[in-house]
Amino acid sequence: MQYVVIIIGSGLGGLAAGAKLAKEGKKVLMLEQHFQVGGCATQFKRKEYTFEVSLHELNGLNKKDHIYRIFQDFDAFENLTFLKIPEFYRWIGHGADIIVPDNADQAKDILINKFPHEEKGIQKYFTSLFKIRDQLFRMPEDQMKKN
Ligand SMILES: Cc1cc2nc3c(=O)[nH]c(=O)nc-3n(C[C@H](O)[C@H](O)[C@H](O)COP(=O)(O)OP(=O)(O)OC[C@H]3O[C@@H](n4cnc5c(N)ncnc54)[C@H](O)[C@@H]3O)c2cc1C
Repeated sequence: MQYVVIIIGSGLGGLAAGAKLAKEGKKVLMLEQHFQVGGCATQFKRKEYTFEVSLHELNGLNKKDHIYRIFQDFDAFENLTFLKIPEFYRWIGHGADIIVPDNADQAKDILINKFPHEEKGIQKYFTSLFKIRDQLFRMPEDQMKKN
């Protein structure tokens, strides 16, 4: 038994790398210590309750995002149905109950509305987030140009 690549761990990282390599015709051996694949992206049952361990929702369906390209490569859009969620998360605590939408501009407006005295800080925070996102969008292309 000869393998071109051995991947240790079948979390989302290992599975994505393995699927890509297999698609390119490489013989891959994937080793997993657990009795099932998925890593953090998994669930378990206790009595009638099902617990999601980590992965609840997914970003990256923005066409600029490199995850989008990976999904395209795996024909995910033809074979899976993605559901758009109405909200990113809901925060309850410290006397506040806030539903944060999945749209960044709307999220910013909602937070500024709720905490007007923090407007300057919230603006600064979102400006930093957008800058990081723009750099991330550029990253794979910059890398590809180098190679
Ligand atoms: C609480 C929580 C909530 C999250 N929510 C989200 C979310 O909503 N959306 C989102 O996109 N992401 C979310 N994430 C992040 C996402 O789940 C992880 O980034 C992703 O699943 C990590 O995948 P991975 O392959 O890097 O690692 P892992 O999932 O950790 O996989 C590693 C795998 O390697 C195996 N392994 C390790 N060592 C060995 C060894 N020596 N031999 C054999 N096998 C080995 C492990 O058993 C495991 O199966 C969340 C994470 C957490 C913890």
